Amino acid sequence: MEKRHRFSLWYVLLGIWLVFIIQGYLASLLAIKTIPYSQFLNLLKSGRITEIAVSANQIQGKMRVEGGKPDETVLFRTIRVDPELSAMLEKYPVVFKGEIESTFLRDLFSWVFPILLFVGVWYLMMRRIGSQQAGFMTLGKKAKIYMEGDLNVTFKDVAGVDEAKQELMEIIDFLKNPGRFTELGGRIPKGILLVGPPGTGKTLLAKAVAGESGVPFFSISGSEFVEMFVGMGAARVRDLFVQAKQKAPCIIFIDELDALGKARGFGGIGGHDEREQTLNQLLVEMDGFDPKVGVILMAATNRPEILDPALLRAGRFDRHVLVDRPDKKGREEILRVHLKKVRLAPDVDVEKLANMTPGMVGADLANMVNEAALLAVRHNKQAVGMAEFEEAVERIIAGLEKKNRLINAQEREIVAFHEMGHALVALSLPGTDPVQKISIIPRGIAALGYTMQVPTEDRFLMKKTELLNKIATLLGGRAAEALVFGDISTGAHNDLARATETARSMIMEYGMSDALGQVYLARERQNRFLEIGPRQAGEFSEATAQAVDAEVRRIIDEQYARALAILSEKRAVLEAGARLLLEKEKVDGEEIKALMEGRP
Ligand code: ADP
Ligand code: ZN
Repeated sequence: MEKRHRFSLWYVLLGIWLVFIIQGYLASLLAIKTIPYSQFLNLLKSGRITEIAVSANQIQGKMRVEGGKPDETVLFRTIRVDPELSAMLEKYPVVFKGEIESTFLRDLFSWVFPILLFVGVWYLMMRRIGSQQAGFMTLGKKAKIYMEGDLNVTFKDVAGVDEAKQELMEIIDFLKNPGRFTELGGRIPKGILLVGPPGTGKTLLAKAVAGESGVPFFSISGSEFVEMFVGMGAARVRDLFVQAKQKAPCIIFIDELDALGKARGFGGIGGHDEREQTLNQLLVEMDGFDPKVGVILMAATNRPEILDPALLRAGRFDRHVLVDRPDKKGREEILRVHLKKVRLAPDVDVEKLANMTPGMVGADLANMVNEAALLAVRHNKQAVGMAEFEEAVERIIAGLEKKNRLINAQEREIVAFHEMGHALVALSLPGTDPVQKISIIPRGIAALGYTMQVPTEDRFLMKKTELLNKIATLLGGRAAEALVFGDISTGAHNDLARATETARSMIMEYGMSDALGQVYLARERQNRFLEIGPRQAGEFSEATAQAVDAEVRRIIDEQYARALAILSEKRAVLEAGARLLLEKEKVDGEEIKALMEGRP
């Protein structure tokens, strides 16, 4: 929701202030001056009292204003002291009467009227906000419906996310037949967190799980909770779970979980109580239900790192499913899903379209197809042809470039060679972790591509040669850039940091440098945070510090030269691999090995 009409304390304060102002005004209208009895007697004697009403304890009446017009009077009141008053009153021209005290009318005006006004203003305000907040006034009496009607979404509608689908198959089996599943002793996860960039189809996937298993789908967005009145978010969570349990087996889907589940104490001050309460309620509800009832909770986020760790604990959102940006093959599949909805001209080539749309996610592709169809209408065409698609792609790319979400063709090429450089060096050196996957699909802002190396076993010890090989591998990216383009880029930033760190550790912690010998020069790392004040000098001499620097430099230079030598020797494989990567965007280790060994 864009507009944020938050209920705030300020409205209440404004209301209270208004009541006081109005009450004060009314009181001043009915102002009654309390005067001492002696003054009353004096006034009586001087003839300024015109009219009084005497009750058991007090006298109220009108007196003429001093120096005022003859008929101008003010009200006064005094405590009656003299029981023999009437004898004295007869001497003066005063209208007098006995009275039973009643303050009813005054009370009515000074209290009831402002309260009515306040209630009126309150009611109007509620109605205004209420209409924007989906009728919260009725909550509790008539619960809001979160359930979505006929979904008609199945796995066929979600393409290019085969791994995620695979992981969700088990959930579908369970939802289709919860009883049988638990009979066999299967443990069902309560919460599944779909993690991935916006527009990759997380919501669609959750709907498809519901559609495939034929169960109701309840959905709500995390940001909706946060805009609620204090206590309303928590009530809504309770309400949602009550409804869902009645319809079990079913799926509850929470979009933008990060809006609700940010780590507590994250961000500024104020306005967090509500979110915290809501989050706590969610945790309570999650812990409180038995998965056997068949309620599966799914949530989506693109920022899992900021989530409150309590949400990710076992028994809560402990199953994570990655819904990543699609590679070229994935985009082709997604395009096929969306192209079914439009009439295509015979010249449309899906593979070519997938080639033209690197970096786009499902939502972008759906958007692109829609745009092309609109263009065809504008061009008065009978079917959507390649020309329209090309124009649509350009438009979408221009939009994404503005949002800084796409890298250009030249950058892609650099990234492809850089990643191939890492992979080739790793594959050529013994004792490095096997290369599993190389990708140039950008993820986030920092990493433009990655080479995934998976250790074959858990390691406790590393040998010197292995560490050196690791440094060479890290430098392989930069070496490839230098070799192929004769120029280098900022892309190696992180690699250099890690290579330098490793080299420094070898020298200072592991005693692996001949120049420095078997000495331990580093301080305990934990203590670094405790050091207060300016950084203290090392516990070694300046000469040693210089020697360490020179040694780091030597190791890095040597390994860089090694990486460069490997890549020069295998230049052909480097080129072929980079081309393959540019074409497919994702290549696995086996394919590179095949290239190296000259297999097809
Ligand atoms: P997310 O929840 O990850 O932000 P959505 O599920 O809301 O993304 O996707 C928005 C739209 O984009 C979907 O309605 C669908 O039309 C399209 N879309 C996204 N991903 C895919 C996909 N993998 N396959 C087919 N369509 C997709
Ligand atoms: Zn790199």
